[in-house]
Amino acid sequence: MTFAFEAATPRRLSWWHLFYSLLLMINFQVMAVDTDAELEAKLDNYLFLPDNDLPGAERYLLALETTLQPQTSLFSRTRLYIYISSLYNAQKQQGKADEYLAKVNDIAAELQHPDIYAELYAEKLSQHWANNENSKASELVPLVLQFSARADQFRVRYYGFNTAGRFLNWQGNYKDALSALHQALNAVSDSDTMRDKRRQIFLKLQIANLNQSLRNFDAGLKIVRDATTLALTDKELHSMLTDLYITEGSLLVEIAQYPAAGEAYRKAELWGEKLGDQAAISTAINNLGDMYLRIGDFDKAMPYFQKAYQLAEQQQDQYGMDTAIFNQGAILVRKGAHDDGLAMMQETVRKTREEDSINELLPLLEELAEALHIAGRFELEAATLREFNVLNKKLFQMERDKQLTQLQEEFSAKEQAKQIEVLEQQNLVKAAELDKKHLQQKVLILVALVVLLATIMLFQLYRRVRNTNNKLRVANDQLAYHSLHDPLTGLLNRRSLHDHMQRKQQLGERRLVQQAEHDGFILLDVDFFKHINDRFGHAAGDVVLIEIGKRLNALTRNEDMVLRWGGEEFLIVLRRIDQAALSQFTQRVLDVIGSQPVEYQGQSIPITISAGFITLPFADLSDHQFNWEKALKLADMALYLGKVHGRNRGYGLVKLNQPYAEIQQLLETDLSKAIDDGVVEISLLHGPATNQH
Ligand code: GH3
Ligand code: MG
Ligand code: MG
Repeated sequence: MTFAFEAATPRRLSWWHLFYSLLLMINFQVMAVDTDAELEAKLDNYLFLPDNDLPGAERYLLALETTLQPQTSLFSRTRLYIYISSLYNAQKQQGKADEYLAKVNDIAAELQHPDIYAELYAEKLSQHWANNENSKASELVPLVLQFSARADQFRVRYYGFNTAGRFLNWQGNYKDALSALHQALNAVSDSDTMRDKRRQIFLKLQIANLNQSLRNFDAGLKIVRDATTLALTDKELHSMLTDLYITEGSLLVEIAQYPAAGEAYRKAELWGEKLGDQAAISTAINNLGDMYLRIGDFDKAMPYFQKAYQLAEQQQDQYGMDTAIFNQGAILVRKGAHDDGLAMMQETVRKTREEDSINELLPLLEELAEALHIAGRFELEAATLREFNVLNKKLFQMERDKQLTQLQEEFSAKEQAKQIEVLEQQNLVKAAELDKKHLQQKVLILVALVVLLATIMLFQLYRRVRNTNNKLRVANDQLAYHSLHDPLTGLLNRRSLHDHMQRKQQLGERRLVQQAEHDGFILLDVDFFKHINDRFGHAAGDVVLIEIGKRLNALTRNEDMVLRWGGEEFLIVLRRIDQAALSQFTQRVLDVIGSQPVEYQGQSIPITISAGFITLPFADLSDHQFNWEKALKLADMALYLGKVHGRNRGYGLVKLNQPYAEIQQLLETDLSKAIDDGVVEISLLHGPATNQH
């Protein structure tokens, strides 16, 4: 792993990059509802397809299903599956409908999200209801309500509450229905899309009807008028106006506001005509007739029932026609035309009796009995009332049975809901335990990564320090080398001799007694070097100096020292050498330098040198009396003698003929005279014969 990091970032680690990848590894799971906008838009459009074209609807939805991708949002996928299932339910293909419900069930199990559950249970409820499996539908009501309340998507909340609310209403559980429909309304009340406005109006209409059932007439009126105001704002909503005005009218009748009720019904009739809605017109007219009948205004009531008959006849609506005839009969009886009126009423009762619908028959019998009473047909009246009582009892019995089974259903539904709740709790606990485990794993990974990072960081730091130390050492070594060497020739420099002598003195003082070995000093100076520079150029002069350095190095041993003493002066320090060997060596130096010219850019540069040489210790003098500096001074004076006596030669000081103390003065000031006086013995060497200068 260390290697991989280094390969990616050879110079330095990118800590931010590492940190970023680390963050990526810790993916915090946040369960938010994310839908697929494109699919949702297409499903919205689906709602506007014509209701009656089931094959077209199926093609549309199945085509959408083929566009699903593995990454398509599970929430939008659920919505599509629910629509498909609902469609198959409407087509009475329950097998296929169940297949798609099973898919949603799988998604619910995976996501454990209230939106999915709400949609699943609401659709199941709706399908059971449609299939007349009402007890099964009833069992689902609490689950639908519970999950819809927790759902994130408004659409899902609306769908769940609306489904449950309509079912509760149908069951006659008006209070719970009212509450569910109000929550459905809340879900869509903030939206102003056309579809949601339609939903708002539809819900308000149902809520108004429910309020009427619960005898909250004022509340019903308020909400239905709200809905009417909204419906009037847009042409697309006008089709809902007839239902709204009819509901408003019937609410007004309940509180005996007849003129206002009449106005509402007439508006319903008018809008029915505008929209070509025959059913609405006929409802409005029948209701108007009923209202006038109720307040005893028979003359006003009659034309409405006649018109209702015509309309029903046009529509071939037998039930409508029968009702209109019955109502006309009731008016005729009250106006005194007993026989005609009763005949019309009895005809409708006979037909309804054949239909075997107690619910519809009972109110007719009640009215017929009243009409018979008005007509003075008391015997028939009594018979009719008897029939009414028998049927009423039967209905009561049926209702009681129905209520009993309903109670049982509700009980088992509650039991089941409780069990489901327990299961859900267990699921939640399991999910929490899993979460905990994942979290622990993540923390462990995090700790491991931090340790790894710290190790890498430390290693990098260590390497950097080591590199810096190495560089420092190299720099120091170079510094030490340059401080002791001449940059042009690479020979040791004057300072190196000072260092050397200092060290030697510190060591030598201890060894002096047993070691009486001699060192030899040869000081050299190139003859007429200025001429060389002048004739061949300064660069040529440099080459000559380098070449001389090379030749001197080649002559000497490792333990000897060859130094560049100054511009064109060199010093050779030879170890453990006696007087004779020093003379021999100096001779070789003169020869090696003087016998071969230096080659420079195709030119031969002839060179010679002059030398002064001496041994140390000299003349058995102690280091205190005669040290290396004094030796060099004498060598320099000897070299000077060589210069003045013709160059290309070497002068060596061999021995003293008088005590040093006596001749020191002379020796150090005038060597030439000292030689002439015979106080010092010298050795003279000649370089090779040349014809250069
Ligand atoms: P002599 O025989 O008396 O020693 O004559 P000389 O010309 O060698 O005498 P002098 O000591 O006066 O001249 C030395 C010259 O060496 C002077 C200087 O310009 C030259 N020189 C000193 N150092 C360097 C160097 O590094 N490179 C070159 N090319 N010339 C140098
Ligand atoms: Mg010189
Ligand atoms: Mg010189």
